[in-house]
Amino acid sequence: MKVDGKLAHNLFKLDKEPHITINQSVCATLCTKRVCMTVCPADLYDLNETGEVVVNWEGCLECGTCMICCELGALSWHYPRSGFGVQYRRS
Ligand code: SF4
Repeated sequence: MKVDGKLAHNLFKLDKEPHITINQSVCATLCTKRVCMTVCPADLYDLNETGEVVVNWEGCLECGTCMICCELGALSWHYPRSGFGVQYRRS
């Protein structure tokens, strides 16, 4: 089974508030690499209509890769509260 098929088995219990937020005053004005848009295994980073990076945190796999790769520290990232977030399933 390919990765996309395996990821489709995951369940997500969403909290009210996002566990990832982007400081646009840093991201939109200082970042030129936008590494987050290539490293996320779930492909959750995108550009909005004004060209700002946005994250669809609801599908986050909680790997932490984006937080580590954001060299400017524009991401605020924490694990979802207990009982929320991704629930991995084998099949
Ligand atoms: Fe994507 Fe991992 Fe960052 Fe979640 S923690 S948004 S899955 S890179």
